[in-house]
Amino acid sequence: MSDKTCDLAITGGMVIDGTGKPRFKADLAVAGDRIVALGDISAYRAKRTVDATGRIVAPGFIDAHTHDDNLLLRHPDMAPKTSQGVTTVVIGNCGVSLAPIALDRAPPPPMDLLGGQSDYHFGSVADYAAHLKSNPPSTNFAMLVGHSTLRVGAMDDLARPARPNEIARMEARLDEGMRAGAIGFSTGLFYPTNSAAPTEEVIALAKIAASHGGVYTTHMRNEHDGVETSLDETFRIGREANIPVVISHHKVAGVKNFGRSKATLAKIEAARATQTIGLDVYPYTAGSTVLLDAFIPSAARVIITWSKAHPELTGRDLAAIAKDWGVELLEAAKRLQPAGAIYFMMDEADVQRIMAYPHSMIGSDGLPHDEHPHPRLWGTFPRVLGHYARDIGLLTLEDAVHRMTGLTAQTFGFKDRGEIRLGAYADLVVFDAATIAARADFDHPKEPAAGIDHVIVNGETVWRQGRATEGRPGTVVRRVGG
Ligand SMILES: [Zn+2]
Repeated sequence: MSDKTCDLAITGGMVIDGTGKPRFKADLAVAGDRIVALGDISAYRAKRTVDATGRIVAPGFIDAHTHDDNLLLRHPDMAPKTSQGVTTVVIGNCGVSLAPIALDRAPPPPMDLLGGQSDYHFGSVADYAAHLKSNPPSTNFAMLVGHSTLRVGAMDDLARPARPNEIARMEARLDEGMRAGAIGFSTGLFYPTNSAAPTEEVIALAKIAASHGGVYTTHMRNEHDGVETSLDETFRIGREANIPVVISHHKVAGVKNFGRSKATLAKIEAARATQTIGLDVYPYTAGSTVLLDAFIPSAARVIITWSKAHPELTGRDLAAIAKDWGVELLEAAKRLQPAGAIYFMMDEADVQRIMAYPHSMIGSDGLPHDEHPHPRLWGTFPRVLGHYARDIGLLTLEDAVHRMTGLTAQTFGFKDRGEIRLGAYADLVVFDAATIAARADFDHPKEPAAGIDHVIVNGETVWRQGRATEGRPGTVVRRVGG
């Protein structure tokens, strides 16, 4: 006798629960936004049923590293993410967050990765969060407050360390952000808006985030020749501010650093003995950001992702453009500015070594406002599950899922997310392990993944059989237990 009702039943599937343990056969019952039964759900009469026979049922993926602050506002269906099975995004990475700043001029690079002046109009994190509360997106989101955003809002000259009164202003804004629900503080110490900040300036701000139980995430000062020195700086910030750190998109870039991930991972492993350190990685040997002279000489290939000066050249190789113009690469780059680019600058063996490191989370680092984006925006999660887990066997499917669900929820302190168990939020993805694959590539970067059947956020379906639904159940996710 069915004496209880539930909103949704998912039947016949194999559950990979996000903890890393082996899959098991189980049905699920969902009522409201929670999983209310797992295994035998015969006591429930379901209002609607998803047949998951022959499919994997996993926790919805958490994108550990995004620049989706403005995508949540402009394209609330979040199709680049929900199409991959992503149900929660961590925003505000690399020192760049849309809030808190109301800009009265064009955003300096790399803040232009999120949009133009008119997009930066939230003077507080509370305003930004309130806007999304009344205009909810399809995915959940967790907010980081960016150091570059704070610096641009507090300083008239970014090319020097902040003065005590400027640090006080940044501390007050970060404090407001943490009170409004931000999970922590991010830096992009590599970037011109952030690079003049000495370690002590970062420590002062990280202490504010720590006082609210936050995390510190960092696009480090150097991911090329100086990567190990940058790791030391990152560890010092974590120790002196007494804050958990997350190393963003860990990589060793440039031909002469190929193989160096052996040393960086050993260093991270040693430091983990005395402090809390996490990291994220994307599954590609090419990176992407604004077009920067510093990256051009060490890249094997550069593709233009957008150009204000020459939008018609988007998607073309910088080398071909330079040849057409009869100029050197750096001169061609200068004529394209402001612009964005993809840089082939890593070794596949390093990417695999970092991905297989037990504490590495998967994060896309996708750039949703680029005209011809890096395929990681649409392809990261299915590429890990299809190419790296199934096709080449770098990870078991259970381990791969863990790095995009349970591990990520644990690292960021997301309560009742990232795992399938009784009482957890019903953030779920139903996919076909045999066919899941990224279809986005460097030539066709906006293709949705293959093999994703259903994506459910807080009990509501947001992606079904290749299409976004009208569902907008996304909510802010806070950090618990910091
Ligand atoms: Zn970054």
